[in-house]
Amino acid sequence: MNRKPIEEQIEGIAHLLSHLTGEVNALEKSYSGVLRVLHKLEASLDYDDLTGLLRRNSFFRKYEKLMEECRTLGESLGVLMIDIDYFKVLNDQHGHPTGDEVIRKVAELLKQFESPNCMSGRYGGEEFVVAMRGTDAEMLGVAEFIRRGAERLHGPVMDSQGKPQANVEWKCTLSVGVASSNKEGFDATRLIKVADEALYQAKKSGRNCVKAA
Ligand code: GH3
Ligand code: MG
Ligand code: MG
Repeated sequence: MNRKPIEEQIEGIAHLLSHLTGEVNALEKSYSGVLRVLHKLEASLDYDDLTGLLRRNSFFRKYEKLMEECRTLGESLGVLMIDIDYFKVLNDQHGHPTGDEVIRKVAELLKQFESPNCMSGRYGGEEFVVAMRGTDAEMLGVAEFIRRGAERLHGPVMDSQGKPQANVEWKCTLSVGVASSNKEGFDATRLIKVADEALYQAKKSGRNCVKAA
């Protein structure tokens, strides 16, 4: 049998190996590209499309972490449940696109309060939730700032094509329920439930007000 000299064989193998390395590198690159896209997608799933606020489940996960931090540090935590007043009427009078704009503007207002100690989320349609580390007085202060901030919100009513109409403005108010770990303990679900009950009291008291549990 006519065999190639050993040097030639080694050269062939080296050539093959360098080719394979190139293929593996290319595969690695596309794999990390896919991973990057998946990570971005995963992160975007945490946020609500309309408002850019955390969705309810993602909010809850981060809120539980903040609660654990507060518990460990011996600090108190507050939950604010917030609901736009008479939103059905607003939708009926001005249409859904304007309703969406009001929800976006309320979300922007809440984002102004965000910090490592204060997080907000969209709890449902026109309901929002805020969790914050701070004293009871600070919680009530933030709740009142948010309520008053909403009173100053306004904007043009949109027509059915989503175009702003001249001289027709929307306004809105919020009701807020507040619950504190000082009174309720460090129970994430309970704090939200109690804040929701306080929100119900705010609605019963005529809306556009803050009620503490
Ligand atoms: P209340 O003062 O008691 O809160 O009265 P309300 O009219 O706000 O009552 P309710 O909370 O029952 O109404 C919520 C309405 O919000 C009903 C639903 O059609 C509307 N809604 C929910 N999600 C959206 C949304 O993403 N966009 C718009 N435009 N409307 C929404
Ligand atoms: Mg409402
Ligand atoms: Mg509601």
